[in-house]
Amino acid sequence: MVDLYARDAAALSCMSHLRFFPQAVTGGQGCWLTSDDGRELLDFSGSWGAVGLGHAHPAIREAVTRALTSQAGASLLSSATEPAVELAEQLLSLVPERAGGRVWLGHSGSDANETVARAVLAATGRSRIIAFEGGYHGGTTGSVAVSGHPVQDAVARLPGLSLIPFPNPFRDGGPEAAAERSLGRLRALLDGEIPASDVAAMFIEPIQSDGGMLVAPDGFFAEVQTLCRQHGILLVCDEVKVGLGRTGLLHCFQHLDIEPDIVVFGKALGGGLPISAAVGPEAVMNHASAFSFQTLHGNPVCASAALAVLDTIEREGLTENAADVGTHLASGLKRLARQHPWIGEVRGKGLALGAELTKGDDMAPASLETALTVYRAHQLGLVLYYVGVDSNVLEFTPPLTLTRSEADRGLSILDQALSDVARGVIGADDITGFEGW
Ligand SMILES: *Cc1c(COP(=O)(O)O)cnc(C)c1O
Repeated sequence: MVDLYARDAAALSCMSHLRFFPQAVTGGQGCWLTSDDGRELLDFSGSWGAVGLGHAHPAIREAVTRALTSQAGASLLSSATEPAVELAEQLLSLVPERAGGRVWLGHSGSDANETVARAVLAATGRSRIIAFEGGYHGGTTGSVAVSGHPVQDAVARLPGLSLIPFPNPFRDGGPEAAAERSLGRLRALLDGEIPASDVAAMFIEPIQSDGGMLVAPDGFFAEVQTLCRQHGILLVCDEVKVGLGRTGLLHCFQHLDIEPDIVVFGKALGGGLPISAAVGPEAVMNHASAFSFQTLHGNPVCASAALAVLDTIEREGLTENAADVGTHLASGLKRLARQHPWIGEVRGKGLALGAELTKGDDMAPASLETALTVYRAHQLGLVLYYVGVDSNVLEFTPPLTLTRSEADRGLSILDQALSDVARGVIGADDITGFEGW
């Protein structure tokens, strides 16, 4: 019998694969996935943060069943529907006043960021956008256009895109030096390198997740906001991975002392179904009719799932749980860092955590060891992937329902995986074909 992973390889395009180990799953509950070989895998990725409520949450199942029991069509393009309207009204009530104009609904973080990029350029008549090196805003042509992640370097950026470094205190000599390096670049740009009055927007990730789960120093984004406001530049906050409770506050930007003009939601918003949202001022997010749409955008089934997600985060206190269990997980990771010299830094907030693996006195990225660690962890029953422009940061974005004892279970598997890799239990030859990114 050919196993599920082999059938996948024979039938599905590798263009959408980002594989770290031969994972094949047939089901899941809560923070656990069922592997096709019958094993239960503890999921520390939550499908890259998209599974905020855990797998198979009854609230999602009920919402979807209700929406499909009497189905109000499959599209909001040519008809108002209750779930889309209700979702938009709720999102408007959750964002800062300055972002409180209109809600655009899409399928993914990618299409939402693409639409925001298109709308800010069209609505302001300005031609330029600023974003961060290492930033990831999506995989469609228009969202890659405003991203700075090196994995996408083969795809064209917006001609008017300027990238500045994201502050990295671990690598740039501490928080002050790191912030000054980035702010210096931003000031130089706005002070004459580019015409500041041509800049429509600046795209930020409040924690740069795919770039390495980087947390900017305190006060950094407040200064970015000041500079943006001085030049009439809209601040677009991409909350797609780290928003909706994950960092211990509903919005990650609430940690940063800023009020973005436009807020983008995705991933966990749908509880496993595809839906995204961009919320911003009427002048931008109500730019023109029929300006950016796809047929199933904001469809009643996905919008109903999103409503259930927002309700469940609130009702089950998942934001508070993310803060509590996140603190517990982070301290466990710091304990591992004292036993495993490869762990150079543990960082993040709530249940958006990263562990950067380095080696040698010069802290060189331990990219191979990172790839071996996630591979070994999967063999031992733990699912986690890695991020970072040097592919050396273990990423922890489990469901927000994670318990302390599940966190401990994952920590002990990771402990074992790191020890096994150090002892040479697996090596580079074992992970051929699992290059990740
Ligand atoms: C994943 C991600 C996106 C893109 O979301 P998709 O659902 O993959 O389209 C955009 N921004 C950030 C910060 C992300 O992590």
